[in-house]
Amino acid sequence: MIIDFHTHAFPEKIAARTIEALISNVSRISDYPMRNCTDGTASGLLDVEKRAGVDLAVVLPIVTNPKQTETVNRVARETNEANCGLYSFGSIHPADPDAIAWIDRLAKEGFKGIKLHPEFQGYYADEMIEVYRRAAEHGMTVVFHAGRDIGYPPPAKTTPDMLLRIVDKIPDIKLVAAHLGSWMMWDEVAAKLCGTPIYFDTAFIADFIDKSLARDIIVNHGADKILFGSDCPWENPAHTLDFLNSLDIDPNDLNKICGKNAAGLLGIEK
Ligand SMILES: [Zn+2]
Repeated sequence: MIIDFHTHAFPEKIAARTIEALISNVSRISDYPMRNCTDGTASGLLDVEKRAGVDLAVVLPIVTNPKQTETVNRVARETNEANCGLYSFGSIHPADPDAIAWIDRLAKEGFKGIKLHPEFQGYYADEMIEVYRRAAEHGMTVVFHAGRDIGYPPPAKTTPDMLLRIVDKIPDIKLVAAHLGSWMMWDEVAAKLCGTPIYFDTAFIADFIDKSLARDIIVNHGADKILFGSDCPWENPAHTLDFLNSLDIDPNDLNKICGKNAAGLLGIEK
């Protein structure tokens, strides 16, 4: 079973303009030719994932304003009820006074995890420990955007040091640091995060990281804690899979990376 652990889709009505806004955000500070490989909708995502041979894609919504929480999580719930090959995490805004109550509610509704994006949400990752602690108490997975973000100038709001502080304070948290531990901060990841209990996904790294460094990080960290993720629509999952296949990783380990580890976090037995 192939599981893409890091994808995005937006409600039909706002998909086109969200994609456009995100691309223009990047073009303000970067020359990178950011391209979308879907139209931003759930059906567009499902289509691209199916063509790449992916069985299940995890959608990671991000609440950028507490007022959106109700709507974003309703859409997430509907995605999961449709049982169509997409599984959505929930989202909360850590600065929302109701953040902890929202986590309780999402846990009760059966959500397996939440996604946080300190750049979009405007805070530093190690500031909201009590919110994460509650998610950990419910056994939820907490995915962080980690490292630099192509649409925001440095300093990064989630760094390897901040991630270390979080796991130090909440040792049993199931924490996923997206973008192989911290985007564009991979020397620091190799030095500080390899061997820790933090999961890394592989989203949006294929065109930015040196292959031998990617392989070293994966092998030294341990294939048990690596999750195939593409960041679709920002990277085609077929491209991410080609990249992973080109790293000369043991087939058994590749199997874990491409689905088995994710199935464990999602509680899917197969
Ligand atoms: Zn992403």
